[in-house]
Amino acid sequence: MPSLSPRSDLESLPKYVPGRTIEGAIKLASNEVPGGPLPSVQQAVTAALTTVNRYPDNGAQALRERLSQELDVPQERLAIGCGSVSLCQQMIQAVCGPGDEALFAWRSFEAYPIVAQVAHAVGVKVPLTPAHGLDLDAMLAAITERTKLVFVCNPNNPTGTALHAEEIERFLDAVPPHVLVVLDEAYKEFVTDSEVPDGVEFTRTRDNVAVLRTFSKAYGLAGLRVGYAVAPEPIAQALQQVYVAFSVNSLAQIAAIASLDAADELLARCRDIIAERERVRDALLEMGYEIPPSQANFVWFPLGERTVAFAEHMLDHKLIVRPFAGDGARVTIGTPEENDQLLAAAREFAAI
Ligand SMILES: *Cc1c(COP(=O)(O)O)cnc(C)c1O
Repeated sequence: MPSLSPRSDLESLPKYVPGRTIEGAIKLASNEVPGGPLPSVQQAVTAALTTVNRYPDNGAQALRERLSQELDVPQERLAIGCGSVSLCQQMIQAVCGPGDEALFAWRSFEAYPIVAQVAHAVGVKVPLTPAHGLDLDAMLAAITERTKLVFVCNPNNPTGTALHAEEIERFLDAVPPHVLVVLDEAYKEFVTDSEVPDGVEFTRTRDNVAVLRTFSKAYGLAGLRVGYAVAPEPIAQALQQVYVAFSVNSLAQIAAIASLDAADELLARCRDIIAERERVRDALLEMGYEIPPSQANFVWFPLGERTVAFAEHMLDHKLIVRPFAGDGARVTIGTPEENDQLLAAAREFAAI
């Protein structure tokens, strides 16, 4: 008799490596924003604590109604998820059968290969361009009859590069209609390049495009876990079908609405981070680093074989960054003081 064991393919499952947290060190590893929740958001969450004996609204009706107004998208095309990482998995579960292919650039968001494999799909990786951006022509060429979904991370995590509207449009025109294109816009609020599109616009006219957004980054709710998808109606319904019941908790739903109420204040914070991003990148370029232009709240150091040494050097200086061994390191933009510490340590490393 065979003994009980987990699925054998899980042995090969890539591990999601969360940014480390070390007492006394500055965490620039998870693309969190440095500011804590606004008083108005704290108040809303505190008030909602009195009802946590009740299950949350499984349909997140109030939040969906609000997003429907904000985005001018019918509620039937909106789905809420326990963070957009959960929606990435739901997307694959919604469209891929066993052995179907989910395509994405690499390196891109590290959850993509994991959620693909968990959902019994085949993750197909397409290398980035030499300029660290998505290679849409190569991604197009990699589409097969088995391809059901393509993730397009814009701006791309971890390289920070962003595609322009024209490039995406040309890509969408060429993608066969049986393939769902998922534009992952987790960093949308940090985009300053006016040529970078709002992906929701594509969903108004095309029935194979979806967009993922999150409250974790610009809206500062990473610890509460809530994101949303704008999708063609049948896909939004399928996302709801594969949703783990009640997984977006009631405090997260309330906090998301309170954050939308406070959008002006939160987006003003983002503008400060954007200014810091440009200051940090300029200083790093001056030190001789190659840093691709970033449209997100982080910068990418394509250091190749020196990546691990860089991360260790940073740790010696009490700075936690996010290394991808052999490839590069991603560093989140923090407060001006934190960024100054990063620059000082980077200057030292450049001199080694
Ligand atoms: C951070 C991130 C997400 C989602 O984060 P959640 O906290 O799960 O909402 C999704 N996609 C990309 C590319 C990200 O960087």
